[in-house]
Amino acid sequence: MALPIVAVVGRPNVGKSTFVNRIAEADEAIVHEMRGVTRDRSYHEADWNGVHFTLVDTGGIEMGTEDAFQGSIRAQAFAATREADVIVFLVDGKTGINADDEEVARILRKSDKPIMLAVNKMDTPNSVDEMWEFYQLGLGDPWPLSSMHGNGTGDLLDALVDELKQLPEQDEDEPEQTINVAIIGRPNAGKSSLANCLIENDRSIVSDVAGTTRDAVDTTIEHEGRFYTIVDTAGLRRKSQIDEDVEYYGFVRAMRAIDRADVALLVIDASIGLTDQDQRVAGFAAERGCAMVIVLNKWDLIDGPDAKAEIREKIADRMTFVGYAPVISIQAITGKRVNRIWDAVDTAYANFSQGISTSKLNTWLQGIRDFGHTISQGKKILKIKYVTQTAVKPPQFTFFANHPEIVDDNYERYLENRLRDSFDLTGTPIKLKFKRKD
Ligand code: GDP
Ligand code: GDP
Repeated sequence: MALPIVAVVGRPNVGKSTFVNRIAEADEAIVHEMRGVTRDRSYHEADWNGVHFTLVDTGGIEMGTEDAFQGSIRAQAFAATREADVIVFLVDGKTGINADDEEVARILRKSDKPIMLAVNKMDTPNSVDEMWEFYQLGLGDPWPLSSMHGNGTGDLLDALVDELKQLPEQDEDEPEQTINVAIIGRPNAGKSSLANCLIENDRSIVSDVAGTTRDAVDTTIEHEGRFYTIVDTAGLRRKSQIDEDVEYYGFVRAMRAIDRADVALLVIDASIGLTDQDQRVAGFAAERGCAMVIVLNKWDLIDGPDAKAEIREKIADRMTFVGYAPVISIQAITGKRVNRIWDAVDTAYANFSQGISTSKLNTWLQGIRDFGHTISQGKKILKIKYVTQTAVKPPQFTFFANHPEIVDDNYERYLENRLRDSFDLTGTPIKLKFKRKD
């Protein structure tokens, strides 16, 4: 099997070559160095604690005019997101972040690849405080290190190797970018009927791929140029026995599908109405950070506008914890209105994987401060200094504040609601984190 590829990206002079040489030296692990297929990269074989990988140093890209320079940084980042299994993004801890770093981060954030943000040139043991500006790149926790002296590189390599161990087995037949969709709900709600609609209505089935669990089968389909993988659809097209269904669609099964999904389609039987089990499954999907679309099926069995309004109200009342999920009524058995699900899934997925810029977030935060609603505990008055997005799928926002420990559920909900008022977060849960910054 080909070795996993670790790409090192970053603007010139942040220390990429030094870093690559250090890693190679750390274990005397360079087996050979060869000029890559493209002129501007060098490939090294390396290993750490027995895990072997190919390290790609993009440092040699030649610089031209200002524009070419910009272009090559972008090209480097794009190439890394295409080719690499894990990306190490190196920035300069001495000079801090500049516009090129932000541009690279923007590109990297859109990729599905694991990204490790390494802050180089931290030659002396540094405080967490010096790290906080790097959170604004929206790539999670930064790793401080010194490629020159070696501090911190071991920790980074440990984490890197953990990422490599988690890489899924390569499947060459699988299309690259696909939205994983889990269809969940009680037995008899109409999940199979819906899956059949989505899969069969003159859409090309790309593949049935055996999933990670032994008996799960995923179906990848193409719709208007995008790929969707309906996870865990074993037996959906072959109508099975009722009792088999009950077992098959058991809670555990749904949980497993949710774990692999980007978007959960929660199918509710409108003729029965909302049940405890629906609420439980929805709660689980929310907890796992899945985006969600609520599908009210068997809409044909509901008579008149009053009854319809009543069902929708009940859902609004009892499903406030997934209040972000759009509710779509359909008739899976005839396929009526099923088409609207694609748009809802696309929107939910776009919001689920979006990155909101730090400047927009801080403009928003200024509005919150101007409005003046804050909380206090004794002499402590909460002051939020700064907010930045620190993860996608689902979006996670980290707030830096003077007293993060006094933030309670109410205030967190307040912030979440204000975020939802200002940004399109339809369909996706969000996570808020609070860290100290004096
Ligand atoms: P590249 O262009 O990104 O490949 O950067 P280089 O590896 O060529 O390093 C650029 C400059 O930064 C060189 O002068 C290095 O000696 C210096 N440098 C690299 N890593 C460190 C470090 O950890 N600490 C300090 N102080 N300087 C470093
Ligand atoms: P699953 O157990 O969730 O996969 O549910 P199925 O797709 O097997 O559907 C259960 C039953 O509901 C079947 O008898 C379907 O024909 C019926 N059904 C599914 N969708 C609809 C619908 O939109 N309207 C009506 N009236 N019946 C439906």
